[in-house]
Amino acid sequence: MDNCIFCKIAAKEIPSKTIYEDDDLIVFHDINPAAPVHFLLVTKQHIPTLADCHGEHAALLGKMLLLAPKLAEEQGCGYIAGEGKGSGGFKTLVNTGPNGGQEVYHLHMHVIGGPHPWRGQR
Ligand code: AMP
Ligand code: ZN
Repeated sequence: MDNCIFCKIAAKEIPSKTIYEDDDLIVFHDINPAAPVHFLLVTKQHIPTLADCHGEHAALLGKMLLLAPKLAEEQGCGYIAGEGKGSGGFKTLVNTGPNGGQEVYHLHMHVIGGPHPWRGQR
């Protein structure tokens, strides 16, 4: 879609620090990280928001959710199961609409990790 920054990143018209790519998704580091690890799982298809998703998108959404912990582990913020709470871990976040704090209207999921991943605004 014209004038969509994430479509342009997916089309390689704008550079990004890509850490994963397949036919459906591109994953790159957030340009303004909220934590030591902060990357975005972005659909290649232009879907404006999570609220625009329907049954036909179930596999794509499932793929995003299942990929998040694998990439978090690769990026050094995976969850390590153990006694009690275990250790490590990360936030997954999909902002939707103005009240959800969405800035880029192209579906994406944040993965935010590190010692103090939550700074209150995302
Ligand atoms: P959201 O508020 O969920 O729409 O978040 C959009 C995110 O995209 C923000 O965290 C931005 O820092 C990030 N962002 C915007 N432009 C770029 C870019 N060119 N490369 C990487 N991340 C970006
Ligand atoms: Zn787009």
